[in-house]
Amino acid sequence: MARVEIRNVGKIFGNYKAVDDVSLTIEDGEFVVLLGPSGCGKSTLLRMVAGLELPTFGDIVIGETVATRLRPKDRNIAMVFQNYALYPHLTLYENIAFPLRVAGRRGDEVDKKVRWAAGLVGIEHLLARKPRQTSGGERQRTALARSLVRDPALFLLDEPLSNLDAKLRHSARDELRTFQERVGMTALYVTHDQVEAMGLGDRVVVMQGGRVRQVGTPEEIYLYPADTFVATFIGTPPMNLIDMPGEVLGVRPENLMPVSFFGQESGLRRMTMLVSRIEFLGSDKLIYGALDDPFGQAKVIARLPSSVPADIREGERAHFAVREHELRSFDPQTGLARP
Ligand code: ATP
Repeated sequence: MARVEIRNVGKIFGNYKAVDDVSLTIEDGEFVVLLGPSGCGKSTLLRMVAGLELPTFGDIVIGETVATRLRPKDRNIAMVFQNYALYPHLTLYENIAFPLRVAGRRGDEVDKKVRWAAGLVGIEHLLARKPRQTSGGERQRTALARSLVRDPALFLLDEPLSNLDAKLRHSARDELRTFQERVGMTALYVTHDQVEAMGLGDRVVVMQGGRVRQVGTPEEIYLYPADTFVATFIGTPPMNLIDMPGEVLGVRPENLMPVSFFGQESGLRRMTMLVSRIEFLGSDKLIYGALDDPFGQAKVIARLPSSVPADIREGERAHFAVREHELRSFDPQTGLARP
């Protein structure tokens, strides 16, 4: 596997900057996820690493090679995209063998490689089947196996799970991660799904408007968002932002708890909320409301485990608190986090 360096890379379509001066290093064996809303430039960045798009400026280095102008087939990469087309008339075995046959490999070597890759993704028992005789998840794994047989230096995945239903996505995510650790693959993975990004990435790159907003571990991004965009893009419901004179306070919904929850604890910021609605979600409840002064009627959402006893009713005021160290502060002009 290989280390990848994206050096000050940009892509301009006409006069539109789809990717604007992105620098990023993916370490050998690291799984990095590009996350951002639709149109933020994540697919374009991935396509430049793949060689499907030529950067307007900047360089891409894969291993020891400046790959910026290399054709995709000369980059030693494997790509798995949303539409992982398999050949319907070929068995899974022949689908996986296909890239090896095209490369002129013969009998024994092909057989060994196909069985090795199929074993890694757990589809050895399905090799004689045609794609239509398998499930979506199994086809997904076949596509992954097919991308593996050429010993790629780097995996590029663009929303590869988005065709799967919610339940299958969960197990596919788990499998992909287990598999990644076993193979030690270096991977760049694109998604707009924050849960997927947080679950899969060693590091997550949050993009917006063609730019990188923050790079960090899932914990860093969640606990210490670099700006108000990241703070509100990550987390469901997102971080509450409360406008105060000279600052913006950030509070995660699960940190805003009934004051009774904290017992005798000190170091609390107290807040009174006029509760407008309570939503029961099963394991949690969401409490919607507006904060009294000095918090300027700011609309907030608190997330409470259903098991926490709380005397809270719609249309009434309730006392809440947040631990001071769990509050975040942002610059009201730039939106950047303050230490
Ligand atoms: P999505 O999640 O919707 O796929 P994305 O973050 O992957 O979004 P990109 O596909 O990278 O976004 O596109 C970034 C921006 O560049 C978009 O505004 C898109 O319309 C524009 N764009 C992409 N490809 C081209 C192209 N070939 N010509 C012109 N504009 C393009």
